Amino acid sequence: MKYVLATHNPGKLKEMGAILARFGVEVVSPKDLGLTVDVEETGATFTENAMLKAKAICDAAGLPAIADDSGLCVDALNGGPGVYSARYGGEGLDDRGRYMLLLNSMRGQTTRAAHFACAIACAFPNGDTLTAEGRCDGTIAFAPMGEGGFGYDPVFFVPEKAKTFGQLTAEEKSAISHRGRALESFAGKLETYLKK
Ligand code: IMP
Repeated sequence: MKYVLATHNPGKLKEMGAILARFGVEVVSPKDLGLTVDVEETGATFTENAMLKAKAICDAAGLPAIADDSGLCVDALNGGPGVYSARYGGEGLDDRGRYMLLLNSMRGQTTRAAHFACAIACAFPNGDTLTAEGRCDGTIAFAPMGEGGFGYDPVFFVPEKAKTFGQLTAEEKSAISHRGRALESFAGKLETYLKK
């Protein structure tokens, strides 16, 4: 059975496709099916947003659909930018603009704890749903470090690695990341669901 991975991001498709392939799940993108479904992320939580996307793609494709939603939650910013991570600072900013804005808003903050969170949702044509979550704890660095990854990676410092996400290889990051952990948990739940 094919699953539609509700993302247009080739990086995510590759990263998530590789992890899910280990569990015998074959994924295609909405683009592969000639689908363009724009879903407004109006949910208050990562799980709600992931489910909105999974259900919309499942309805449009008539196939099981998997979607994720993720973001960076900073303690000193009351959990922000959270579900607004992609839109932090408004439309005009790129990834660098967003993490520089974050560093500025953290100026003078001694409490720098933060975590990345990721929710995965899967919707089946028969109405069944599955969800899984993953998180990775770290701190907000005082300056950007590393060129790897995307988004806030250069300013997210992982104490156990003594490096930012931006300084890790893709494999190192996947092994500990919120998305990697959410996918491992999801794959286990999917395996159990499919055995029933
Ligand atoms: P979405 O899950 O595609 O809606 O992404 C939410 C936003 O959170 C992204 O645009 C990034 O700014 C941020 N984000 C999510 N995961 C990561 C990550 O692994 N590294 C860096 N930034 C991330």
